[in-house]
Amino acid sequence: MSTNYRQLPWPTRLFTMLACLSVPLAAGTAMAGEPSVDPSGNGVDVLQDTTFDADSRSSETSAAAEKLVEAIPAHEHDVPLADAVTTADGQAEPLQLLGQELQPGSAQRLAWSATELFEGVPVSTPVLAVNGAMPGPTLCLTAAVHGDELNGIEMVRRVLHDIDPKKLSGAVIGVPIVNVQGFRRGSRYLPDRRDLNRYFPGNPNGSAAARIAHAFFTDVIAHCDALVDLHTGSFERANLPQIRADLRNPDVVTLTLGFGSMVVLHSQPTVGTLRHAATSAGIPAVIVEAGGPAQLELAEVKHGVKGIETLLTTLGMVKKRRLWGDPEPVYYRSSWVRADNGGILLSDVSLGSSVRKGDLLGTITDPMSNARTELRSPYAGRIIGMARNQVVMPGFAAFHVGIQAEDVVPEDAETEIAHRQETGGYVDGMSE
Ligand SMILES: [Zn+2]
Repeated sequence: MSTNYRQLPWPTRLFTMLACLSVPLAAGTAMAGEPSVDPSGNGVDVLQDTTFDADSRSSETSAAAEKLVEAIPAHEHDVPLADAVTTADGQAEPLQLLGQELQPGSAQRLAWSATELFEGVPVSTPVLAVNGAMPGPTLCLTAAVHGDELNGIEMVRRVLHDIDPKKLSGAVIGVPIVNVQGFRRGSRYLPDRRDLNRYFPGNPNGSAAARIAHAFFTDVIAHCDALVDLHTGSFERANLPQIRADLRNPDVVTLTLGFGSMVVLHSQPTVGTLRHAATSAGIPAVIVEAGGPAQLELAEVKHGVKGIETLLTTLGMVKKRRLWGDPEPVYYRSSWVRADNGGILLSDVSLGSSVRKGDLLGTITDPMSNARTELRSPYAGRIIGMARNQVVMPGFAAFHVGIQAEDVVPEDAETEIAHRQETGGYVDGMSE
């Protein structure tokens, strides 16, 4: 018996989580171009007015939904993630996954399909699994929960095919395309316009999205000891490669420390996201955001792969000679700079730029009147996300500034929520 990670009491925890789903979740808003549907209580869905606050995303949660973060009892691992490899003595065990058994020291490509079918045609998605020859934790990588976010797909492929099962401690499970229906349509959403990443851990009796989420969570995520969910910005916005993590959770902090040279942004997970559901179930989870949607960006892909491979090394799952770089700053707060006028947005900064308070970020020019307005940074910090040059409407969230202030540490959830309200809402617009 090497470790007891794989014998956790899942039915109990899943039941607890499903009970919590009956509490109404946050009402979201959607982009005019691609409206979405967000969850309501008891699996009954309510169509949102898609013309309202068009660029804000459904990750702007209500206070009522935020309370669920504390309402779900957290599972305590017997072994902290940081010690998972060193305390895993004895022999590696076979990995049971999706009806298959992977012997230690082997890799296999499996397939997962949701029981809920759109169009009545089975759609399966590959699951890459490597079970190491030595015992250790199971790290899961998921990508394209939003079907138009491509960079993570390539990251999963590169990481998984680069692992030698004979030299691995523990297991790595990679799902390159979680939302295969969205991916095939080039869309962030499921075919019914629902955002899959607002329905975890799902509900076997809910909407199609809730059922898909439930099946995926039960079939795959329940086997993970830690999760890295890969995303990009959304809707013509791009993110500096960054980790988003709830830094109040020690195991989550362990994960963030493992990535090497990557910016960390403290961010409480939105209810319904895979990150929230996993962490609530005792599986520490972080998001890696890199680049923008609908493109394959090689620099971002390489950055993400390097971060994940560094994580495998720092967790002790693989042995490599060199670790990656100096740690990047941690941002406990961030703020969006929004357009006050409609027009053509042209940036004067680029991703990763350091800015001082008052620095010019970009201009918006009215194409008819030639009137020009400037967007300036209200804070000293760094550009961690920004819109591509485009035509914007008033209120559009254009620049995401990570506020560099070491002394700003959120003491509790209320501080964070109050801050979001005071800053006009945390537009996690390009978010998970
Ligand atoms: Zn996403």
